[in-house]
Amino acid sequence: MKPQMSLDDVFLLIQSWLDRLVRRLRLGRAPVPGRKQLLIVQIDGLSRSVLDRALAEGRMPFLRRTIQRGGHRVVPMSVGMPTSTPAFQMAAMYGVRPDIPGFHYHDKRRRRDVYFPRAGDAAWVEQEHATGRRGIVAEGSTYGCVFTGGAVNNLFSFAVLKRPTGSGLAQALSAVVVLVWVIVKSSMVSLAAIGRALLGFVADPVDAPRGWKLLAIKVAISVWVRELFTLSASRDLYNGVPAVYVNYLDYDVVSHAYGPRDRRALRALRSVDRSIHQLFRTARRVPEHAYDIYVLSDHGQAHCVPFDRLTGGRRLERVLFEDFLCPGGAHEVGPSRPEGRRVAAGIKAIRSGRAPGIVQRFLNYLEDDFPWLLGELKEAREQGGVRVICAGPNAFVYFLDDAAPLRIEQIEARFPGLAEELSRAPGFGFLLARASNGPVCFWRGKRYRLDELGEGPFAGRADLALVMQGIGDLMAMPSAGDLVIYGLEATNGNTSYIAETGAHAGPTEDEMQTFVVASPHVRLPERITHPLELYPRFAAYQDTA
Ligand SMILES: [Zn+2]
Repeated sequence: MKPQMSLDDVFLLIQSWLDRLVRRLRLGRAPVPGRKQLLIVQIDGLSRSVLDRALAEGRMPFLRRTIQRGGHRVVPMSVGMPTSTPAFQMAAMYGVRPDIPGFHYHDKRRRRDVYFPRAGDAAWVEQEHATGRRGIVAEGSTYGCVFTGGAVNNLFSFAVLKRPTGSGLAQALSAVVVLVWVIVKSSMVSLAAIGRALLGFVADPVDAPRGWKLLAIKVAISVWVRELFTLSASRDLYNGVPAVYVNYLDYDVVSHAYGPRDRRALRALRSVDRSIHQLFRTARRVPEHAYDIYVLSDHGQAHCVPFDRLTGGRRLERVLFEDFLCPGGAHEVGPSRPEGRRVAAGIKAIRSGRAPGIVQRFLNYLEDDFPWLLGELKEAREQGGVRVICAGPNAFVYFLDDAAPLRIEQIEARFPGLAEELSRAPGFGFLLARASNGPVCFWRGKRYRLDELGEGPFAGRADLALVMQGIGDLMAMPSAGDLVIYGLEATNGNTSYIAETGAHAGPTEDEMQTFVVASPHVRLPERITHPLELYPRFAAYQDTA
């Protein structure tokens, strides 16, 4: 090895050798002449405006070359509401208008919470929405997606290993080669990252605990997972798998932690760019399989302040119940029990952060990391027949005595003036509710109809019609809360109800406006106004089978 050879050079050398090996081991179906195949590369969480900036600053050199010299087009896309991965993928993969109001919500009719990271929830939602529909990835593979899109092929599926035919063995062998390479490369890159971090922590020991947490995420998502996805998808391309959907999570994860324009988030785009390069190169090597590649994003992110920073550590669920829905807990601790009241008031003061100190810090710690010790799920709380769920820059309030969505008049009958009052409080942006003639919006103490939104929180938006459409769609979802609270466009700026600096689910321009990068010979409209429009185009790749 030449001494000036960098780690990257070594990897490139081994990788080209490995590419050839995997290619030799490929035993996919013979290409069908004239048939086009589909590769979708999703960069999770990347808005159009951050993409433009990354391209201009040279942070995604491959994608920039592809656009400038390769003739690929950047087609603007508006992703509808809510701006979150499950809603986007359900619409794009199945062409179904989703009842998925957020990343975490409650289904009043079935009395169950849906929380996408929890095992089984995504599968249940996919079954509820898509039974009987053909997904765009049928007979294909998905990596890093919320839903399967009907995909049947998985890289290390037991079906391949249990059938020891010649092609099965070769496929298993090439899978093993890929896996071993992912392990070797990822271990070396991880060690290099840990080494660099150690040097950094020696220089700045104060920031070390936060640094370790990020490092763990970075190494897991950005090294191991990305490598595995890229090599697995490359192997699919060599094998001529008809449809592949790979989702890179690196940028979204770092952007949640530090904000969508933070240098650490932007830096994550460079590695994603390298992976995209690798996939394009692989597709070029197998022209007989005729892949059309789409690079797209499912939503962007808005820079936010976490809500509990405005309230001395109190989370939204607690503020809603203590200050608005059950004022003072007066029903439990009446004047006949003054002691109880004092104790309760003391606990309330401690929890509200007005009695700072070790006890408060301990309670905050319990609430953040062990909420079930305080009798509740993190980010979900129920009291007196009202359930509150925080999902991001959005939160849902459900009145459980009625399984159908309530109209604003019914909410006012229970809590007069609640929506107006909330919309004036710090950390609250706009609130949405249903009325007999369509959705209503409350912002800074004032009530707006859908057609008046241009005079309210969305004044001056060039894409106002899409915002109105998105809010109409969201409030038509049966699972959206009776009250939908957004922390966006609050007096203090954008607010998120969970601990994050970058957030999404709302209608700000950065969240809603993304892109599709497509090759010049595929037909796409000038602009896409909803991911539902992608479905027939992607599904067409299946029809030619
Ligand atoms: Zn996200």
